[in-house]
Amino acid sequence: MRIKTQIIATLLSAAALIGVVGAIAIFSQMSLTKSDALAEAISAGRQLAEAIAFKAADAPRPVFERPAALREFVTSQHSRSKRDLVVVDRGKIILADIPGEERNVGTVFEHDRGNEVGRTLDDGEPRGFVEDSADVSEAINLVVVPVEGAPGEIVGAVLYEYTPLLQAAQDRTNAMLWLVGLSTVAAMLVAALSAFLLLSRLGSGLAYLNRGIEALARGDAGARIGLVSRDEFGQLAQGFDSMASELESSRLQLIDQKAYIEDIVRTVAEGIAVIDGEGRVVSVNPAAADLAGRHASRIEGQEWRSILDMRSASGDKLAPGTSPVELTLATGRRHQGEVRLVRPDGSQLPVIASCNPLNRADGGIVLTLSDISELRSAERAVNDRAHELAVLNRELKQTSEATNRLVKLGELLQACVTFQEAFSVVGSAMPDFFGGLSGSVHLTSASRNLVEEMAHWGEIRSSVGQFAPEDCWALRRGQEHAAGPGMLTPRCNHISENGGRGYLCVPLAAQGETLGIVHLCEPNAADRPDWVSQRQQVLRGVVDTLALALANLRLRETLRQQSIRDPNTGLYNRRYLEETSSRELRRLERSGQPMAVIMLDVDHFKQFNDTFGHEAGDLVLKQVASTLLDHARESDVVSRYGGEEFAVMMPGTSLVDAAERAEALRKAVKQLHLAHRGRTLGTITASFGVSAFPELGSSWAEIVNAADRSLYQAKADGRDRVVAGLRKTDPDWDIPAPGRSAAEG
Ligand code: GH3
Ligand code: MG
Ligand code: MG
Repeated sequence: MRIKTQIIATLLSAAALIGVVGAIAIFSQMSLTKSDALAEAISAGRQLAEAIAFKAADAPRPVFERPAALREFVTSQHSRSKRDLVVVDRGKIILADIPGEERNVGTVFEHDRGNEVGRTLDDGEPRGFVEDSADVSEAINLVVVPVEGAPGEIVGAVLYEYTPLLQAAQDRTNAMLWLVGLSTVAAMLVAALSAFLLLSRLGSGLAYLNRGIEALARGDAGARIGLVSRDEFGQLAQGFDSMASELESSRLQLIDQKAYIEDIVRTVAEGIAVIDGEGRVVSVNPAAADLAGRHASRIEGQEWRSILDMRSASGDKLAPGTSPVELTLATGRRHQGEVRLVRPDGSQLPVIASCNPLNRADGGIVLTLSDISELRSAERAVNDRAHELAVLNRELKQTSEATNRLVKLGELLQACVTFQEAFSVVGSAMPDFFGGLSGSVHLTSASRNLVEEMAHWGEIRSSVGQFAPEDCWALRRGQEHAAGPGMLTPRCNHISENGGRGYLCVPLAAQGETLGIVHLCEPNAADRPDWVSQRQQVLRGVVDTLALALANLRLRETLRQQSIRDPNTGLYNRRYLEETSSRELRRLERSGQPMAVIMLDVDHFKQFNDTFGHEAGDLVLKQVASTLLDHARESDVVSRYGGEEFAVMMPGTSLVDAAERAEALRKAVKQLHLAHRGRTLGTITASFGVSAFPELGSSWAEIVNAADRSLYQAKADGRDRVVAGLRKTDPDWDIPAPGRSAAEG
């Protein structure tokens, strides 16, 4: 039912209800009035009955029993009240009636159809009834009230009309009914009118609202009702209008935000793809299309697997269900991981794939792809650089360690005084430089016709101990020579049989002189082809240091030799003799052994010089020196004492033995036959003086002095002779030798 009809029906029903309620109230009032009228009539009837039953003091009998008085009473009552009044006896016979109805007196009252009069006479209960009579045009309402002669004794009844009372009540009720009916109709008319007015206003207000809502529903964001009335519709319209403008501004904001977000998604560097719950790509941004290597139109709507080939970070195929997309689709939770995208052109791109579930019923997800290829290549570059640095560092450390070892080796070698010391240093230091390699150092002998092993280290001996310089390619060519498995170079002759071993010979050269070689052997050369190049730097350092140290040693030896030897004869000089003699003397003294000294001087040497020249003199001195050396023992020290004078120190030899040996020497010198430049130099003689420890002195000076004195004595005695054991106590001690001063020597 429409609201309009409902309102009208409601209003009319309300009006009708008022009418009905009014009518009911009136009818109930009417019945109340009827019963009131009946009660009033009964009361009046009772008073009448009591009045006619009452026996006044002055009367012999009550009015009821006196017919004339009774009729008079009835007549007077009727003239006063104008109402019917009938009195009947116990037998229902009319005793008195109103004027004009006197004929009925003496007849039985029969106008009660229900015998109401008879029943009241029986039970004494008053009751009302309508007179039933043919000659009465309108119904007459009567009450019948019993007349009691004595209490409880019913002698008759009074019938009293109460129609006027009823009529009056009836008239009032009718008037009220009319009033109620009219006001109900008026109420209904008013209700209908106001319903009409209300509905017409409601209709126009609703129509306005309806138009606004429909416009808004059509998407017209500018829809406004514009109703300015002060009623509820005006308020509703204002509310609607402000709501519409709120909506419009929200919509504009939304549009603005949407454009902003779309702009971000379009320009962001990360690839963004929306995938629905079925695994189909709903949309992608340009970056995602770019990463996938396809046009966006060829991606959208496709099953994600067919356009995104994801591999593991190392490029292997992913096990089914393990990619971030599958995991998020299956679990509805966020998953992220590094993967490789294989693009249609075959290139692979490292990316971080992040999948986040969408808050949608169909369970879609957002896939974000971040290109990390630059990061990875930067990482690679950093790793490469770190590796290079580590290698460099290691090399530097090794170099620094090797340098330190080299410096130490150099210092040790510098501190060595003899070759023997130097080679013992080399033997123990080399394994540090060349790891497990075996090797040796060979030196070329002074005569230059032999190369000899001076030091060796390691377990393998791959070269013979001695060989000719031409047996080594390094010495022949003056440069490094390597040979071994896989090399075309010839093997040196000094290499002993060494199977598949490789070896290297490096010349030891310093100050323009080749001193020998350093020889290295690598038993696993076949497996380590770069064994030489690996050690090149260390090798060069070691060889240079060693060559320099050896050259220095050799130079030092030469200088030393030069400082202790006489260059013409090669014999020790006087300084060396004196240094050695005091040391020897102390040693012999401790062991209680003797020591002898022979001093000799070439006789008339000046004449050789003068006759044959200085060169011939030098030759004589060389030959005498050579004769002395030939006759010397190993422990003897043969020296040139000065000029043409010589001294021989003989540790462990007694004075007697020394004199004998001096004699032998004298004879040997005399037997020399010397010639110079084709000329015979003639016989050479020398004079000898012999002294000994401990007989002729406890110090070297004393012993030499004694020998010198003996030599003077020999000169003095005629030369070419031996004088031994001349003592201070001898008379000849102070005699100077002819042609020889004591100060000499
Ligand atoms: P005496 O028999 O008394 O020893 O007579 P002398 O001539 O041997 O002795 P003197 O001391 O008179 O002469 C020594 C000479 O030796 C003087 C010097 O010129 C010569 N002389 C010294 N040293 C050398 C040398 O190295 N070579 C040569 N040729 N002559 C030398
Ligand atoms: Mg002389
Ligand atoms: Mg002399």
